[in-house]
Amino acid sequence: MERPNAWKSYNDEQLVDLEKLCDDYRNFLDQGKTERECVKVAIKMAEEAGYRNLKDIIKNNESLTSGDKVYTEIMGKCLAMFNIGSKSLEEGMNILGAHIDSPRLDVKQNPLYEDSDFAYLDTHYYGGVKKYQWVATPLAIHGVVVKKDGTVIDVVIGEDNDDPVVAVSDLLIHLSGNQMDKKASVVIEGEQLDVIVGSKPVAGEEKEAVKAQILGILKNKYDFEEEDFLSAELEVVPAGKARNAGIDSSMIMAYGQDDRVCAFTSLVAMLNVKNVEKTSCCLLVDKEEVGSVGATGMESRFFENSVAEVMDRVGDYSELKLRHCLANSCMLSSDVNAGYDPMFAEVYEKKNASFLGRGMVFSKFTGSGGKGYSNDANAEYIAYLREIMERENIHYQFAELGKVDVGGGGTIAYILALYGMNVIDCGVAVLNMHAPYEITSKADIYETECGYEVFLKNA
Ligand code: MN
Ligand code: MN
Repeated sequence: MERPNAWKSYNDEQLVDLEKLCDDYRNFLDQGKTERECVKVAIKMAEEAGYRNLKDIIKNNESLTSGDKVYTEIMGKCLAMFNIGSKSLEEGMNILGAHIDSPRLDVKQNPLYEDSDFAYLDTHYYGGVKKYQWVATPLAIHGVVVKKDGTVIDVVIGEDNDDPVVAVSDLLIHLSGNQMDKKASVVIEGEQLDVIVGSKPVAGEEKEAVKAQILGILKNKYDFEEEDFLSAELEVVPAGKARNAGIDSSMIMAYGQDDRVCAFTSLVAMLNVKNVEKTSCCLLVDKEEVGSVGATGMESRFFENSVAEVMDRVGDYSELKLRHCLANSCMLSSDVNAGYDPMFAEVYEKKNASFLGRGMVFSKFTGSGGKGYSNDANAEYIAYLREIMERENIHYQFAELGKVDVGGGGTIAYILALYGMNVIDCGVAVLNMHAPYEITSKADIYETECGYEVFLKNA
C-alpha cells in the first residue's frame, strides 16, 4: 500500500498556499524557540483571530455561547484554546494536541564560573539528545530571569546578526585519538556541555576577572545579578533562523520542529476553522520531552480544569457532564514521526515507515518493546478518520517508529486516552529528529495543516 508523493498532485494555487504556510511556519519557529516564546506567539495569533482570555471572561462574569473563542494559559508555558460549537459540550470535542518543548541545554541554577580565563555557564541537558551534536556549533540563550521583586526579564542572546553567539567546545581532531575510540554516548558527556560565554578579563580585577566582566554586562544590559540565576529559566538552543532546505527549497531545516511543526499546523487549523458543530480545542503543552510531568505537562489537571471552566461559562457544567464531554471527545495527538532515511535504512521497516512528502502520518501506536506503554488507537476510529481524510483528498500515510525492537518513543496520546476518548497519533515526518537542526517536507506541513482542518470540521 505505497502512498503517492503529495508534490505530484499540486496545482499552482496549492503551491502558492503551501509556500505561504511555510513562510509563516519559519517565522513562527524564529519567534518561538522556547515553550514560553511559543505561547506568546500563539496567544498573539489567537487574539488577532478573536480569541479572548478565559480569565477575563470569568472575572467579568460573562457567559459563553456557540461561536465564542477563548484560550487559557498556564504559567506562560502551556495553552488551551476552545472554539465553542453549536452542539452541547457534553457531546464531546475535537481536540488537537501538540507539544512546544524541545530538546536543549538548560542553564543550571548556579551556572557561572571561570576556568583558565574562560567564563562558562554550566548546563543540564533537557530531553533526549545526542550530546556530541551540541558542540562546535553557534548557540543562543533564550529565557527569563525572575528577580525577587517579581520582575520578569526576557533574555535573548545570539539571534540578531550583530548579536554574539555562545558555544560548547569540542576536542581538536589532532588530539582525539582516545576520544575517537569511545562509544558515541560518551564521546561528549553531560558535564562537558558547559557553554563558553566570555574570555575578556576586567582590567585591575585580581580574581575571576573574566566572570566579573560577564556579570558587569548582565547587570548593565539586563539588570540582574549572579544570585538571580537561582530563579531563572534559560535555555541554550541552536542560534539562527529556520531555513528553506534543498536546492529545490522543498524542505525546511530548523531547530525544534519536534514538535513545533505539529504545534504550528494545529494552531493554524484551529484559527482557520471558524464555525463548528462540535467544540474544537487546541492544546499546546510543555514537558513532553521529559515525560509530560509537572504543572504545565499533559499529565497536569489543567486541561480538565479548563474544560470544566468553559462548561461552567456555557452554563452547562456538572461533574458528570464534564466526564461525558471528555469521554465523547476525539483527539489527534499531533506529534512527529521518524521519516524514512535511506542512509540509515537498517532501522526502518519500509512497508510501515513514513516518507517525507507523502503526507500526514498516522501511528496506530507508539511505545517500544512489544507496543509497551502505547496508546493503541481503535480500529473503528481509524476507519472513521480514513473516510473523512479521503473524502477531502488529504494525503496521509500510516507508519510505525522504526523496526520492531529497534527503539521507540512516546507522545501525549496515552494521557488523553485515560478519559476514555478516541486518540490517535498523527503528525509530520521528520528527518534527524532531536538533532539541533531537523528536516521536514513542506508538502507534509501543508497536508497536515489541511488534514487538521478536515478533522476539526468533520470529526
Ligand atoms: Mn514529539
Ligand atoms: Mn521528541
